[in-house]
Amino acid sequence: MPRGIYKRSQEYLAKLKTLGFQKGHHGFRSKESYLKGARKSSEAQRGKPRPFQSGAKNFLWKGGITPINVKIRQSLECKNWRRSIFERDNYSCQVCQRTYCILNAHHIKPFSKCPELRFDIDNGVTLCVPCHNESKRKEAWYEEQLDKLATLNWIQDEMLFRLAV
Ligand SMILES: [Zn+2]
Repeated sequence: MPRGIYKRSQEYLAKLKTLGFQKGHHGFRSKESYLKGARKSSEAQRGKPRPFQSGAKNFLWKGGITPINVKIRQSLECKNWRRSIFERDNYSCQVCQRTYCILNAHHIKPFSKCPELRFDIDNGVTLCVPCHNESKRKEAWYEEQLDKLATLNWIQDEMLFRLAV
């Protein structure tokens, strides 16, 4: 059927009348109530597996063409790992302390070299995109720097703790 505006048939218009707003219906009363409902249902589903719409059952399934490392990175386990890193770091870049920017969860020990640490919370740190780009191709150096930063933070925490006691 070519694109364009088609005249609605009488039958269709009659059907529309029965489908439309009827007594007893009410829409969303405010934007807030709509968002509340939407957020509630999305939060309830968060972090749970969805076997009914994954793999071959999904409408985007192309016959298993995803490489294995991409598959791992997109897995639920990886998503949950990322979220727990962000939550621990309070959704701020741990190098420049920026918030309200696009954040990445960085693997301190590289994803490819240390498969056993891929989902270790202690092996992740929140970085903003510029700081993350900075780490590309100099992973070893960055690892050292982050290690120093962690030690520094640890010393700071320790000092604050002692002062508080
Ligand atoms: Zn940053």
